[in-house]
Amino acid sequence: MHTIENFSDLPLAPPIQRSIQDVGYSKPTPIQIQAIPPLLEGHDLLGCAQTGTGKTAAFALPILHRLFINQRKASPKQARVLVLTPTRELAIQVHDSFKVYGQHLKLKTAVIFGGVGQSPQVKSLSTGVDVLVATPGRLVDLIDQRFLSLSELEVFVLDEADRMLDMGFIHSIRKIIAMLPKKRHNLFFSATMPPDIEKLAATILVKPVRIEVTPVSSTVELIRQSVLFVDSDKKKDLLKSLFKNPDLKRVIVFTKTKHGANKVSELLGKDGISVDVIHGNKSQSARQRALEDFRAGKIRALIATDIAARGIDIDDISHVINFEIPNIPESYVHRIGRTARAGTRGVAISLCDLEERSFVRDIERVIGQKIPVNQQQPFHSENVMHFTGTIKPKAPNRGRQQSRPHSHSTPSRKKTNSSFKQRSFR
Ligand code: AMP
Repeated sequence: MHTIENFSDLPLAPPIQRSIQDVGYSKPTPIQIQAIPPLLEGHDLLGCAQTGTGKTAAFALPILHRLFINQRKASPKQARVLVLTPTRELAIQVHDSFKVYGQHLKLKTAVIFGGVGQSPQVKSLSTGVDVLVATPGRLVDLIDQRFLSLSELEVFVLDEADRMLDMGFIHSIRKIIAMLPKKRHNLFFSATMPPDIEKLAATILVKPVRIEVTPVSSTVELIRQSVLFVDSDKKKDLLKSLFKNPDLKRVIVFTKTKHGANKVSELLGKDGISVDVIHGNKSQSARQRALEDFRAGKIRALIATDIAARGIDIDDISHVINFEIPNIPESYVHRIGRTARAGTRGVAISLCDLEERSFVRDIERVIGQKIPVNQQQPFHSENVMHFTGTIKPKAPNRGRQQSRPHSHSTPSRKKTNSSFKQRSFR
């Protein structure tokens, strides 16, 4: 069989090849190599893969190819392709990906999820869409109100099936499946395949091709992780105390906000630690200089926000410290992936206060392992460790700052990711 190394080895239509070039992907990832050919041939697919593997493009590209080859206008209130995702964040991300990969096609897309007014969503469906990305609850609501029908659906994608079941969506999913036409193309993705997921897959898929890619956790496993539970007013002292350890040679400290990054930078600077900060409010030249100094070993700690850190491509980072825990588990994986480059062991330390306790649980679920707790540190809080609730954030836009920037999220992280990706895709 002809081996696939480059996107040009895949028989994807020219406008799709063009968008792949536009986003700057040089080579398909393992899941893309395995999934795209059978999907182009119209086989159903059962994919055991996590976020971070290039999964979205693995299904979006062949679906877009199909839409390009069989061009037809969707009927009013109908969708040709439906992607079901468990969360609003993922729905937005997947929708963005379709828009970016489909930028050279004439496509109508829509994304719908709960928790917001339904009128704009109803409007976006009224004339029919090629691609609809949705969370199950709101989708069923809109169907019940007859704003949408799935009777002409061609492709059905169930993404993160295990998480859907965890979140209690099984009834909505069953209801949706019952409404689909018998003849359709089915794609089913799940990070884990426990028996209930296998059973669900069997009710949806017909003679599926089964693929499995090494999960992100293989990268994560190379990293010595720990979580330090601490009351929020002690975090600064804890951070300073960590820097007493001379092993912390080249450290990235992640904060949630630019303001927070400045504060941490001041704090460490006052403590005599050579430090610089990069975030969106810094000029390009200031960022460049900070990175060069960091690379050259002139500064010991670089304080960064998630977005600013995307441009960082530096080896030999000894430690990643999460001064604040991201509420998107994938951000955690990306952050800690900055250390342990090229197979070396890195260290990732996360400082977790009460408000962030539930984020750690989400992260553990995604990476499929418990993060070891360092209880020996001087500011250890039993209270935080045993807290099982979820606290609504105080700051009004906390969630948004942590989320990916929607309009250009997933596929725009070209180079930054690819260095991390190369490792996580193994
Ligand atoms: P996903 O698993 O779909 O969430 O994708 C994870 C990240 O990998 C996203 O930021 C994509 O933009 C990026 N990505 C997807 N395919 C490739 C590729 N072939 N080369 C480099 N990065 C990619």
